Amino acid sequence: MMQTEPNAVVSRFLGISAKSLHTSSAKNEDHKLKAKALKYTLQRTAQTLLYNHEGGKQHRVCSCHRNVASDGVSVYRDVSGNNARFGNLMTCGSVWSCPVCAAKITESRREDLQKAVSNWLLQGSSCLLLTSTFPHEADMPLSELLEKFAEALQKFKNSRTYKNIFGTSVAASALKSKKNTPLKNIIEGTHPRLGTVRSLEVSHGVNGWHPHTHEVLFMDDDRLLTDTAAVESLTKAWVVALINAGLGDESKINDMLLRAMDIRGGDYVADYVNKFGREPVELQGWTIAHEVTKANSKMGKVGRKFGNEFHYTPFQLLGFATDGDSVAAELFKEFSACFEGKRMNYWTNGLKDWFNINEVEDEDLAVDQETEKEKEEEFVIRLDGDQWKLVIETNARFEVLQAAARGGLNSVLSLIEDLKTRPKSYRGWFKDFARPDFSRFFH
Ligand SMILES: [Zn+2]
Repeated sequence: MMQTEPNAVVSRFLGISAKSLHTSSAKNEDHKLKAKALKYTLQRTAQTLLYNHEGGKQHRVCSCHRNVASDGVSVYRDVSGNNARFGNLMTCGSVWSCPVCAAKITESRREDLQKAVSNWLLQGSSCLLLTSTFPHEADMPLSELLEKFAEALQKFKNSRTYKNIFGTSVAASALKSKKNTPLKNIIEGTHPRLGTVRSLEVSHGVNGWHPHTHEVLFMDDDRLLTDTAAVESLTKAWVVALINAGLGDESKINDMLLRAMDIRGGDYVADYVNKFGREPVELQGWTIAHEVTKANSKMGKVGRKFGNEFHYTPFQLLGFATDGDSVAAELFKEFSACFEGKRMNYWTNGLKDWFNINEVEDEDLAVDQETEKEKEEEFVIRLDGDQWKLVIETNARFEVLQAAARGGLNSVLSLIEDLKTRPKSYRGWFKDFARPDFSRFFH
């Protein structure tokens, strides 16, 4: 690959931090706090919706940032006064059902993707964005749609068209050779690819659930964009796969050929990577929960638009549920049940290895820890079991963090006093996994 000057797309990637410098830092910090408040609010709703009242096994989000991993709950604050966090709390690591964990996990996934894409573009190569979808089918349960959609994807990848165009992933065959088990049948594609990263998403609109995938293709160049014949045969192969999997039929074929597949390049890829996982907490005009009701009445401004229809993300549904929308609540429960355990991103074999990206589980990315080295942090307080129960019963987790960030120990103490006078309107249960600390006997 030839070394070339970074093109406009690369500059956009490299310019991300410059862009954030333009925003005043106070505004930024205020935004961060609002986003955090929203995440805790939405998480509380998810805990209420997914709590199993018959007892038995609970969804893991129900114990997230409630259950205590060791003796008491610690609170830490940035000396800047802009942020605070809890220590010793259990995190659930559910990327689909927990807004608090999802934010951390998707940000890390986004960084991986950005690293790979920037790296690839800097070598003078190209990235394309392939979006695969299908005609909306009202009244089909999400579980059934997902099954059929997965089947269609499998058929598409196995199709002769797909194989002839993209060939064997270069990164996959490189990894095999490195491990001394070289691939026997390597297909040279007409538009060879290093590999792909596929992300599964779902939204809900007037015609029901709408699963779709976005796939970043790591290509040598972007010839594919102007190769009309190749794009047409890929689209045809996708539509055939959909029909064979039971999504859509002959009567919709023209519409499907027009809308079921979309391949773009350049800025679209940069935009996609920049935004990945950053909704809904940073969605414009949508930063705190009570704004959701207003948003609901002006759908056009915040709905994600596909064609002429408006679609909502699962966390937006959770926002509507927070405001008492019982249909949205049921939809979120259906979504959560269908997506639990599914992977959000799928990197083709060898691609992470090619870019030296480590394989890390969602659960490990969700753990609360200090990650930015420059940041200075101080210990504020350790809340005992009774204090923590009070915080949960009054649904005040975010308020504790806000008090710690802005006013430190004294603010937290006076907040605790204030909480004692408030009605206890939430279930205050949590599990204390504290174990005796044997290390103290060895001093
Ligand atoms: Zn969680």
